[in-house]
Amino acid sequence: MKKWTPPQDVDRIQALGPDCPSQLERILLECFQPLPKPKAGDWLAKGAPGDQNGDRRGQTLTQFCRPGPHRNFPSKHCNTIYLVPVGAVDGAPPVEVLAECLHAHFGLEVKTAKPLTKKEMADVNFHQDNAGFGPQLETSTVHDVLSKCRKPRDAWATVGYTMYDLCNTASGFGFVFGEARSDKCTGIFSFARYMETGISQSQFLRRCCMVLAHEVTHLFGIKHCVFARCLMNGSNHLEESESRPFAVCPVDLRKILDSLKPTGGLCPEQRELNLLAFFVKHGLDEDAALSRARLLVMGVQAPVVEFQKCSLLSLENTDSEVEQRNEAEAVGSTQ
Ligand SMILES: [Zn+2]
Ligand SMILES: [Zn+2]
Repeated sequence: MKKWTPPQDVDRIQALGPDCPSQLERILLECFQPLPKPKAGDWLAKGAPGDQNGDRRGQTLTQFCRPGPHRNFPSKHCNTIYLVPVGAVDGAPPVEVLAECLHAHFGLEVKTAKPLTKKEMADVNFHQDNAGFGPQLETSTVHDVLSKCRKPRDAWATVGYTMYDLCNTASGFGFVFGEARSDKCTGIFSFARYMETGISQSQFLRRCCMVLAHEVTHLFGIKHCVFARCLMNGSNHLEESESRPFAVCPVDLRKILDSLKPTGGLCPEQRELNLLAFFVKHGLDEDAALSRARLLVMGVQAPVVEFQKCSLLSLENTDSEVEQRNEAEAVGSTQ
């Protein structure tokens, strides 16, 4: 494989597709930096996952909008995301905050469901010999249980979260942080590896919410993004994932808006205001500043009164080490 070069502005604009509002073009150019050239070990480096699975080409709006099995629409009646605690969730961010994050991102209703029962958990495969973070759950079995038992009539997606570590041995992943299956419209996310010594509450919450929003975005059939530094970039290690902004670029935003049309649509300005409120409330100051910059380009006056900050998390530090970060996605969600 050749070296990969980040797309030029002309290609970035092209990726936005036809009839793009000029303000979204400005937001892409003014508020979202291009990706840097990959360093060894980065997601798009030679031989890394983004090289091997075709991420380097990117997915333009036009490519995304072509009809096909990759598309996954919520509808007027199936428009709810269910959040399901799977096994141990002590130490995870409060489920209301996770729900708030998803609601701000997608405008869909988010409901919290009862934890998986003992009987349901009996169908989930555990591995006791672990990778240093306690027992691991086999992701494929979690997807099976969620799609079989946790798909109420109004569900568009069912998303499990856990403090157990995860693995997908069939795909060769000794551990994964999260996995989205767009064919089943289920996701499972682990926050087990996000707590480190010295990490702040807001940093921990940011990591958890970013993986949640990233993977749920995949459920629409949206692939990894190469058109900007963006929430939808892949990542191969912690530094790379931490350097992503907590925001999708306008290319991915247009994909989300298109996917939400059958539900009645989502107003991008209101969405951005909701995100700003979320960032301010939870002390994500840098993300809030970037959100205000986007609102400025949209011509929307952000509220002068500061949103109420809150502190909902109580963290215990752990001795966990930062390990090589791999992100696995099921075939259906990335190809
Ligand atoms: Zn991903
Ligand atoms: Zn993007």
